[in-house]
Amino acid sequence: ISFEDLNLSQDLLKGVYNCGYAKPSQIQALAVPRLLRDPPEHLIAQAQSGTGKTAAFSLAILSRIDFDNPSSQAIVLSPTRELARQIVDVIKNLAKFTPASINKVIPESVPQIGLIEAQILIGTPGKLGDMIKRGRIDVSCVKMLVLDEADCMLEFQGFLQQIEIIKKLLPRTTQLIFFSATWDEAVFRFANSFVNKPATRIL
Ligand code: AMP
Repeated sequence: ISFEDLNLSQDLLKGVYNCGYAKPSQIQALAVPRLLRDPPEHLIAQAQSGTGKTAAFSLAILSRIDFDNPSSQAIVLSPTRELARQIVDVIKNLAKFTPASINKVIPESVPQIGLIEAQILIGTPGKLGDMIKRGRIDVSCVKMLVLDEADCMLEFQGFLQQIEIIKKLLPRTTQLIFFSATWDEAVFRFANSFVNKPATRIL
């Protein structure tokens, strides 16, 4: 399987090759087509870091957002600020030849006042949840929520509560995408507590 088989736009393909990726990794080949199905389905994927998981969900996000709509359309939650920064770097590199707007929402990068506007927002559950609750992020057009290292985030009660609050404020049709390093029943139960239709599990 090649990146040409993944139904990516020419602009995204340019971004992929510009990153130096020759072929999709296993998780990319599996997850990207699933994430792009219509109607969208919730997904739980098991993938450790080093497998290309960040690019897997990034390519799906960059394929599904409407570049003509400036509203926030995808939110990625990460357990740490450092991982959030890394995710931003990956998405920005892949999006190099697209008009996507991308912003991080972590304590040190959020201005005191004003709307936080970008089509793709990446941040930690605390800061992102806070900004959504305060109405500083318009979530009315959000269609994808990615939880990266979901198993790690669920270990902390504070994150769990924050993620539940965020989920409640997003449109009911938002596609939920869980990436977990371990095959964790807690993640599966948590994911399915959110959705009426069980999430598909891959890997
Ligand atoms: P991750 O699993 O997201 O932490 O990614 C691990 C590393 O693999 C990162 O440095 C990526 O730039 C790299 N990577 C992601 N996808 C590919 C690919 N298809 N081919 C080669 N390297 C990749």
